[in-house]
Amino acid sequence: MSKRSTDPGSTTARGYGTAHQTLRRQLLADLAACPGQPCTRCGHPMYPDQALHLDHEDDRSGYRGLAHAACNVRAGAIKGNRQRRGKPAPRRAWSPPQPSRW
Ligand SMILES: [Zn+2]
Repeated sequence: MSKRSTDPGSTTARGYGTAHQTLRRQLLADLAACPGQPCTRCGHPMYPDQALHLDHEDDRSGYRGLAHAACNVRAGAIKGNRQRRGKPAPRRAWSPPQPSRW
């Protein structure tokens, strides 16, 4: 399953309703009129041609505003990692490239 945020059919099914989409559209229009507004997560400027998400409060009580998609996803991953406390995230051990024996 791919997670395409631009897929119009899947947003409501995932719990993002009309209010979310309306607000997101407003904020994107606002950003298009006034580009370079700071990301709610990293504080760096955002531009309309970047992948942007409408970011929720961590407790889903409301919206923080627009954030870079990468920042929002990373924040969600950090939160998820905290919730899985006691079970360290699997980390792939780095191994040096093996010499070819062909
Ligand atoms: Zn950001």
